[in-house]
Amino acid sequence: MKKIAILGSTGSIGTQSLEVIAANPDMEATVLAAGSNIVLLEEQVRKFHPKLVCVFDETKARELKGKLADLPVTVTAGMDGLLEAAVYPDTDVVVTAVVGMIGIRPTIAAIKAGKDIALANKETLVTAGHLIMPLVKEYGVRLLPVDSEHSAIFQSLFGEENHRIDKILLTASGGPFRGKTRAQMADIRPEDALKHPNWVMGRKITIDSSTMVNKGLEVMEAKWLFGVTYDQVEVVIQPQSVIHSMVQFEDGAIIAQLGTADMKLPIQLALTYPERRCLSGKRIDFAALGQLTFFAPDFENFPGLAMAYQAGRKGGNMPTIYNAANEKAVARFLDHKLSYPGITDSIAACMEAVSFQEQPSLERILETEQEVYDFLERYWR
Ligand code: NDP
Ligand code: MG
Repeated sequence: MKKIAILGSTGSIGTQSLEVIAANPDMEATVLAAGSNIVLLEEQVRKFHPKLVCVFDETKARELKGKLADLPVTVTAGMDGLLEAAVYPDTDVVVTAVVGMIGIRPTIAAIKAGKDIALANKETLVTAGHLIMPLVKEYGVRLLPVDSEHSAIFQSLFGEENHRIDKILLTASGGPFRGKTRAQMADIRPEDALKHPNWVMGRKITIDSSTMVNKGLEVMEAKWLFGVTYDQVEVVIQPQSVIHSMVQFEDGAIIAQLGTADMKLPIQLALTYPERRCLSGKRIDFAALGQLTFFAPDFENFPGLAMAYQAGRKGGNMPTIYNAANEKAVARFLDHKLSYPGITDSIAACMEAVSFQEQPSLERILETEQEVYDFLERYWR
């Protein structure tokens, strides 16, 4: 039996992870954690019978505890509760499906407790990759990518372990605003940006996909996961989202993974690796598809991607500054208090103003996050 903890079980990745668990009789959800959605969490607990549940919001946690009084389940709350969920003894693998850099501490705790990690929460690797990758090695755990592009790269590398990667070709749909200029994007509202052409995802990553910040975060995620340089990660726009990413080797050979836009494939593979299992769902009909098209990314009108390369190359706490600014700005945009171009303008302002530090410790990363938030409060006033 594979025992699984899902941090962020009520979200897009979390609910699809539970679908995978429900379809595989040798998998069990022993731990579930969410932010505040106790209505869905209660349903999940009654269906999957985890031993421990965490609700980050303490008031909601107390409420859920009352509702679950008839079941033998422990309910925890807050960051302490989330850390407890991450290290729960009766789990083998932790699916990190929370959104944002709140995932850093639980991910580190899970690694130190010897858990394998199925990593969806890219913000953690972007901001703390220099701390996490050495820990993965030191504790001998597996860090398995759930992000579809990184799973595609991982799959393209099966059997190629001794071959040097020449280049990673990270594909991107280009989002709903591909082809528009910055001026044409000035009045975009959250409702417009929440419509992704190919994938149904959580709100934050859907906005990130539209600004190309998601691809920027994925460039940094690829650097850490596959040990390449930024010059070796090239973004290719492939609007149909059929090629999930590719690896080019030294002899010019390119290996890719293709498939329909279904996150259950990378989720299941991360949970069954090295085994590949049956997964029902649509298959690609190439004749019906007709064609695949490719474009270069538009760095000028989508500065979020250009700034990600800058932040990644600079290193230190710059990716944290980039990421924290984006998290705060996206939340404000979704709240209708910031314009759409204001998201990337805020990132640029933070990268310019917040103090830089090389090799930040975990404490410094979290302090940088707070410095970014404080700066933005003043910047937006
Ligand atoms: P969602 O917004 O759909 O879900 C986020 C989950 O995190 C929810 O369960 C939410 O709980 C929980 N959460 C939020 N804050 C906390 C907290 N403080 N403590 C505990 N749980 C918390 O996001 P997605 O599923 O879309 O994305 C999750 C991660 O996966 C992100 O990092 C994203 O970039 C990455 N990812 C997502 C993909 C996708 O297809 N969705 C694809 C590739 C990567 P609640 O519901 O109670 O708020
Ligand atoms: Mg992705």
